[in-house]
Amino acid sequence: MPHLRPARRSKLGLHAPDERAIVKRPNAFAAVDLDRVPGRRRDPAWISARLRDPGTRVVPVWRSRSLVSAGEPPVAVTLAPGDFEAYDDRIGAILLGVRSGSAYFAIDLSAVAEPLRSLGLEDASFVDLRSIGALLDQADGALLAYARSMVHWHRHHLHCGRCGSGTESTEGGHVRRCQDVGCGSSHFPRTDPAVIVLVTDERACLLGRQATWPPRLYSTLAGFVEPGESLSEAVYREVMEETGVAVTGVRYHSSQPWPFPSSLMLGFTATAERAEPRADGEELDDVRWFDREELLELHRSAAIRLPAPISISRRLISEWLAGQERAGLPDSE
Ligand SMILES: [Zn+2]
Repeated sequence: MPHLRPARRSKLGLHAPDERAIVKRPNAFAAVDLDRVPGRRRDPAWISARLRDPGTRVVPVWRSRSLVSAGEPPVAVTLAPGDFEAYDDRIGAILLGVRSGSAYFAIDLSAVAEPLRSLGLEDASFVDLRSIGALLDQADGALLAYARSMVHWHRHHLHCGRCGSGTESTEGGHVRRCQDVGCGSSHFPRTDPAVIVLVTDERACLLGRQATWPPRLYSTLAGFVEPGESLSEAVYREVMEETGVAVTGVRYHSSQPWPFPSSLMLGFTATAERAEPRADGEELDDVRWFDREELLELHRSAAIRLPAPISISRRLISEWLAGQERAGLPDSE
């Protein structure tokens, strides 16, 4: 039967105690509440048995969309192995992990034209995770993000990047192996690291906006890490390219899986002298320093918008505002 797990909005649902020590407040889509059981990935007999076990939960992904309940707030809807007839067997069932004795798998239902009808589901829908992520609790957001990322990786690695032959899923869906005997390359799930940085001086932060963004939206600076580059080098380069400002004092903050489709956002803070920024005209069409009071007032009056609360960029901005508050600046948010 499809299973709607009750919403748990007040708890983070972290699986391993040490995760709490590592990250006191995980970002959205992080801290999946599963034991990833890497030791079971090479145990096909155990995997087959779990796929016949009615206690197993299956997370379906349909054309990059995730299945959630129609109620408020939405919760992740998972399936039992008998709930669906077919899924993409080029991808197979991807072992995500185990929680409370139940194995969790992801499957791709993209080939099914009307999945809700075929599943017999009425009070659920397949939605873009990005649009509803803020409404989900930590555990559901992380579970759906993990499933979405894994299915996306499989769909884009059906052929070997080395020789072009077909690949097949193995090790519980955590490896795709080239089927050409002479090649036999193994391919592993990947994430694309991107740095995201809040640049500040003593009183202000540096925010920019892209022409393609919604009107009045300003955010932190970001970009993908390039080959042969350290993270602090990537921070320096991105800020210099986009604004012409030279940063110092790069400090790691936290990270966030961003499964749209497969980024890992690496959050930093950095300091800079108050140089006049210039938008590069390519990625950014405006970049400005905002004093704290100015930023609060512009945001309060809706003259500017800040990134969604679910994002690490908003967290970086909010924590900077709070830190200045503690330093004795006006408390007016
Ligand atoms: Zn190959």
